[in-house]
Amino acid sequence: MDDIGKRFTNLFGGNPEVITTAPGRVNLIGEHIDYSDGFVLPFAIKNVTTVAMARRNDNMIRISSLQKAGEVVSIDLTSLAPQVGESWTRYVLGVLWVLKVDRGLDILIDGRVPLGAGLSSSAALECAVAIAVDHLFEKNLDQAQLALAAQKAENDYVGMPCGIMDQSVSLMAKAGSALLLDCRDLSTTNIPFDIAPQGLELLIIDTQAHHKLVDGGYAERRASCELAVKVLGITSLRDISVSDYVARKSELDPTTYIRGFHAVTEMQRVLDAVQALKENNFSKLGKLLNESHKSLRDDYNVSCPELNLAVDTALEHGALGARMVGGGFGGSAIALIKADHLDAIQSAIASAFDAGHFKAPRFFTSLPGDGAQVIAS
Ligand code: ADP
Ligand code: MG
Repeated sequence: MDDIGKRFTNLFGGNPEVITTAPGRVNLIGEHIDYSDGFVLPFAIKNVTTVAMARRNDNMIRISSLQKAGEVVSIDLTSLAPQVGESWTRYVLGVLWVLKVDRGLDILIDGRVPLGAGLSSSAALECAVAIAVDHLFEKNLDQAQLALAAQKAENDYVGMPCGIMDQSVSLMAKAGSALLLDCRDLSTTNIPFDIAPQGLELLIIDTQAHHKLVDGGYAERRASCELAVKVLGITSLRDISVSDYVARKSELDPTTYIRGFHAVTEMQRVLDAVQALKENNFSKLGKLLNESHKSLRDDYNVSCPELNLAVDTALEHGALGARMVGGGFGGSAIALIKADHLDAIQSAIASAFDAGHFKAPRFFTSLPGDGAQVIAS
């Protein structure tokens, strides 16, 4: 905290008026169902983005990030405009634009959420900026309003059509819990996910693979889910049980059927995972993670060799469960493991990647942490 305060003073002169933090996230289970009115169950990781901010007496916005070699970007408030340029500063400026900031600011960022690893450094940055602005300008927005503002910044200003999950969990997470988010009405419930006392740990494996979607992957799958809804004459895949869906198989073409099957079974797995957590039944949770991975791999067809290798190797070396996370075709996998297996599992995955001539993976571990906070003002 002091450190960023001193850096702020060295860079901009004067002291920051507020320092905030916001975490990255991992989605425990509930993949590719946000757009079918499903449930997701993310938790905040311990890695946070810290933002120090002070108001200025003019219209200038000056922004610097320790992750961008301390470069200082200056822009006049009156020239904020959505979807212009490629600069990383769009994530910050978008939030100022959505929250209608009407006064110049100095902003220093220190982001400890790995960038571009699927851990949502973008939401962490947006949310840390959003609560700093809320605090400085006494807007008194609640967490749901701040999440919507941060999402709007990413959708409209950055031009990335993300859902509300990342921003919601970055703002609302509680240590020792996962956040059940209902994508239909955006209601949230904290679910106990206290793995440390059980001697468990969540290993995150960033495969560093990024495969191009040869067949327009995301949009095509989303369209299949929408087609299934239309043909079955239901409001959303949320509104049909797994058994009813299976009974109506003949009404759908095979590709549509199997993609919709992933969605309806994954929604059920999220609810089953919530039940498993309430019962502290981590072997059941592990099995659900495995089933989620199989469904994403075989039915939804969004995995890739690197993700499968990470998951399979973790399981061969004693993980309770493992699955790919995020959109797929690369990115990260998670494994629920016994904490004292950590070194063995990491080195087994590293060796397997080496033997498979894949890029070396990056490893992170995290227990479920707290959401965004004002840490000094
Ligand atoms: P993810 O959210 O999974 O990390 P994204 O591509 O959505 O990946 O967002 C990463 C982008 O967010 C970075 O390329 C950068 O533009 C911006 N960003 C995030 N954190 C920082 C930071 N600390 N400093 C500067 N830019 C950041
Ligand atoms: Mg992101």
